[in-house]
Amino acid sequence: MSQINVTRSSMPYYEEYCEEIKDLWDSRWLTNNGSKHNDLQHKLEAYLDVPHVTLFTNGHLALETIIAAYEFPQGSEVITTPYTFVSTTNAISRNGLVPVFCDVNDHDYTIDVSKIESLITEKTVAIVPVHVYGNLCDVEVIDAIAKKRGLKVIYDAAHAFAVKYKGVSSANFGDASMFSFHATKVFHTIEGGAVCFKDAGIVEKLNALKNFGIDSPETCAYIGGNAKMSEFQAAMGICNLRHLSGEIEKRKKVVEHYRERLLGIEGIRLSVIQKNVESNYAYFPVVFDGYKYDRDKVFAKLSEHNITARKYFYPLTNSFECYKNCETANVEQTPVAKYIADRVLTLPLYADLAPEDVDRICDIILN
Ligand SMILES: *Cc1c(COP(=O)(O)O)cnc(C)c1O
Repeated sequence: MSQINVTRSSMPYYEEYCEEIKDLWDSRWLTNNGSKHNDLQHKLEAYLDVPHVTLFTNGHLALETIIAAYEFPQGSEVITTPYTFVSTTNAISRNGLVPVFCDVNDHDYTIDVSKIESLITEKTVAIVPVHVYGNLCDVEVIDAIAKKRGLKVIYDAAHAFAVKYKGVSSANFGDASMFSFHATKVFHTIEGGAVCFKDAGIVEKLNALKNFGIDSPETCAYIGGNAKMSEFQAAMGICNLRHLSGEIEKRKKVVEHYRERLLGIEGIRLSVIQKNVESNYAYFPVVFDGYKYDRDKVFAKLSEHNITARKYFYPLTNSFECYKNCETANVEQTPVAKYIADRVLTLPLYADLAPEDVDRICDIILN
């Protein structure tokens, strides 16, 4: 039987990409704010309906850099969740800040907003919540808590490109949002990422920070790194953006097919459909909770049939070896996240996944 991977990158037409990169052979301008980069930036500002977008070479450095831009005192605490890709926790820690892990809720797996306030101390400076699978965090409550307590909110929105809440783009919540444009994401630039924000006051600083801290031809104001997006990445983004709404529409069909087959099966829990949220259908998580086979057995069975599902997110980031000396990292303090991480599997999902393949996957799961 043919191999089915958990994801498959969207690609524009080959000729379309070649056409898009053609000018680069004349301009010989390959990176550092070239015309493709600037074009994509403006297209994304319009598409995401947000005043400022700064492009990066990947999502991780976008997140690490926006956190750095706020210059929080070393050792300050940042409230976040362990139910995420390790990038989120690493971006906080690599800035010399302490991740304080809040549990997630058990219906959409985003931060449990009822537990945030009890974790705030005099050292807390920010909240870094994670939108997961195309579900959004409770942005209204988070933004209200942050305003009341004087905290910054920086969303890890890697999973939430093109998602809307009450018609408003996910890029507009909190102080800033990071998007990942990695090849496996709904919208991609091969590798890439962006930070979206409203405050015009940080534009120049972010642009400097991703270019070694250089703020003018002969001055370097910050100790920055290098995280710039190249012209070839931007060209891929320009092409992919043209096809995005069609791709999301196809993903929606795949998800609807899965839901038809798996909804209401005893021991199989599907993620809720959030009210007022227009999803991007980024992932299809299934929680095996009291099902006749446990998660690992289903995973192994699918593998035997050349189908790769993904234990995502598992393990929790607060259980990783690299955080063994971090006093705040303890899975016992985030029991819901642990419960879900031990039972979740994301099933193959991409725009061109055929209905027959969805049926094949479901047949194996349902046996
Ligand atoms: C993909 C992802 C990242 C990292 O983005 P890259 O572009 O791969 O660097 C961070 N957080 C989450 C939740 C992600 O899914």
